[in-house]
Amino acid sequence: MRPIRYLVTLLAALATALTATLFVAAPAQAAPLFKAPYPCGQRWTYSHHSAEVRLALDFVRADGGSTAGTPVLASAAGTATRYYQASGAGNYIVIDHGGGWKTYYFHLAAFSVASGAWVNQGQQIGTTGSTGNSSGAHIHYEQLYNGVGQNIVINGASLAPYPGSYHQCYLTSDNGCGGGTAFWTWGSGIRVRSDVRLAAPVVATLAGPTLVYVLCQKQGDTVTADGYTNNWWARLRDQNGYMTNIYIDHPAAQLPGVPVC
Ligand SMILES: [Zn+2]
Repeated sequence: MRPIRYLVTLLAALATALTATLFVAAPAQAAPLFKAPYPCGQRWTYSHHSAEVRLALDFVRADGGSTAGTPVLASAAGTATRYYQASGAGNYIVIDHGGGWKTYYFHLAAFSVASGAWVNQGQQIGTTGSTGNSSGAHIHYEQLYNGVGQNIVINGASLAPYPGSYHQCYLTSDNGCGGGTAFWTWGSGIRVRSDVRLAAPVVATLAGPTLVYVLCQKQGDTVTADGYTNNWWARLRDQNGYMTNIYIDHPAAQLPGVPVC
């Protein structure tokens, strides 16, 4: 084969491949990395009932705190617009994240931002309420791509298949957590669990002393180990779970400078 002829053939093959990529395999615009629409460390439960619009999920708190009045947070940055619909969504906000992606937050008791404001991820946009067609305080939340409801994805993980009622599935927020406070752990084989209970599933194990970033802390099951007793647990940023404060290398049972979840 003459070199010039070979080059032309190669270019033609490349053009065909590029065309296929552009017109056949064009992927949807990547979604923002959405986070839960409520504050750091809070545990809520969600469901999708039969009369629900699009692929919405309703969220209520499941950690003992009050659902009503809890801040509603932007799950990603974007432009927030305020709306009101007496017969349905009540006070609601739509955040346009760009690239065809929007999130909806319905039934707000109050707005926290001006219409048209730019909001950052984790910024409070309203408070949880029951305005419009709603039987009790909850956050009705949706993710839409080009106007079409999508299965909701938080931190890159899909919440589908959706449960049909509350208290089957739970989601703890890391929205607005910030970077956390650094501590060393001590001991070996320290278990990190999905919740502040000894029966909660283990999500990670710290083999030996480890630098961890504590986002917040909360009281849970009392743990007795190595001569200490403590019911405070630390929420770890990178391991996405809780460990007993006993194995945080600090003398205080409740860590100073770390917020309560
Ligand atoms: Zn709903």
